[in-house]
Amino acid sequence: MEWRRGHTIGHGSSASVSVAKSRFSDEVFAVKSVELSKSELLQKEQKILSQLSSPYVVSYKGCDVTKEKDKLMFNVMMEYMSEGTLVDENRKHGGRINEPLIGYYAKQIAQGLEYLHSRGIAHCDIKGQNILLGKTGAKIADFGCARWIDQADRDVGATEPIGGTPMFMAPEVARGGEQGRPGDIWSMGCTIIEMATGRSAWTNATNAASLLYQIAFSGESPEIPKFLSLEARDFLSKCLRRDPKERWTAKQLLKHPFLEDFNLNSTTDQDFVTSSPTSILDQDIWNSVEESETMDYSIETASSVDSPLQRLRELGSNSGELKFRWNDDERWITVRRSSEYIDR
Ligand code: ATP
Repeated sequence: MEWRRGHTIGHGSSASVSVAKSRFSDEVFAVKSVELSKSELLQKEQKILSQLSSPYVVSYKGCDVTKEKDKLMFNVMMEYMSEGTLVDENRKHGGRINEPLIGYYAKQIAQGLEYLHSRGIAHCDIKGQNILLGKTGAKIADFGCARWIDQADRDVGATEPIGGTPMFMAPEVARGGEQGRPGDIWSMGCTIIEMATGRSAWTNATNAASLLYQIAFSGESPEIPKFLSLEARDFLSKCLRRDPKERWTAKQLLKHPFLEDFNLNSTTDQDFVTSSPTSILDQDIWNSVEESETMDYSIETASSVDSPLQRLRELGSNSGELKFRWNDDERWITVRRSSEYIDR
């Protein structure tokens, strides 16, 4: 596929992500790039992502190597998620997402996890920054820490060291033990608490080492916000059981009343296809991107304005009521090896 790189839409610890457009069609997509000589991790991510196909996982579109400014770049193309991350969404809601919308996103994350776990993959870095939003809701992204589980003979990830983001790590992971499906469920619990409060699940952490110690050995679980409904609190308590064997699986959680009763009128799985803009209408986004680097790139098409998602976003919106508090979370970033905890 021949394509043109647009502006940068995100930077992670390992790669940068740009918007891109096919030379021969209207297709707009996202491309995650890193210098070829440093692309081991991105190549591992590409191997995993290329085998996945779910409405709840950012879809893979291919990979290639390009020469840009005399550097060889390894690129992974994927669907473009126009609405930013769950962290951005939290900011838009003044630091607190309303409970119906939390349920909506939580269900999609749980569906994504159930899919990954059933395919023998643990994501190992579930957090708001790695949940991307499009016109149809939330999808799991960033498979840089993902690993195959159960199958020791797989060529990727079988004997890897612990990875992930300390703030979201489960007790068994923080202790350097097994990193598998239950760890993702714990991280989802922490992510839901952040959606609800706009704050990290662990509020009194001062540095990564003491936080990891607290998670690993204190015997505590993050505090579940009291203002949530009984069902939401019970759901979180099942995600945040310290013993991974007692923690509920994604499959069980999807049957929990907090998620099971959660059905949007007129929203079906068919609605959850790809979020990459592909129509002529969406094409405007590419043109505006080229005109100005400071544009807001979110797409608001006629069909999305009245969507169930849009209605949920507006429901009980408490924007402005709360002081925005997110800075404590942003200090924590993904670590790739057990010795590499980084405090921004
Ligand atoms: P990390 O440090 O979390 O491991 P990373 O280097 O692996 O990051 P990603 O998390 O994959 O990089 O991407 C960095 C950012 O780029 C995301 O937080 C998001 O803002 C943006 N981004 C990534 N993929 C897409 C996409 N498909 N569509 C839109 N934006 C994206």
